[in-house]
Amino acid sequence: YQYDDQNIFAKILRGEIPNKTVLETDHSLAFHDIQPAKPVHVLVIPKVRWVSMRDMAAADAAAAGRFMAGISLTARELGLEDDGYRVVFNTGRDALQTVEYLHAHILAGRKLGWPPG
Ligand code: 5GP
Repeated sequence: YQYDDQNIFAKILRGEIPNKTVLETDHSLAFHDIQPAKPVHVLVIPKVRWVSMRDMAAADAAAAGRFMAGISLTARELGLEDDGYRVVFNTGRDALQTVEYLHAHILAGRKLGWPPG
């Protein structure tokens, strides 16, 4: 469990791999998922070296808050505030976290089932 500069989202953040950007702030980058699971599927990553929720909790609360604000601003940018959206953080093996760089999934665009599969 260690931050890796070579992971795919670190490369996207540095502009080494292209992405379809939705919204970039001083503290976060939001871009469309390459393999959308829902009609709207956007990923939001913080501009800090956090692998997972654990690192966000260990960081200062203001930094965590700025990242969370980036998620909300992205949802607004996508026009989702009226109809709503779901935010998912897959964390670790059982949740099938495949990229070891903290990221929030914004899922929306139709009525989503609950509980999630
Ligand atoms: P996880 O399962 O780790 O929570 O989700 C990782 C997500 O990243 C998946 O939904 C996957 O489709 C997406 N993804 C993986 N590689 C890339 C990429 O190179 N570009 C983009 N835009 N999304 C990616």
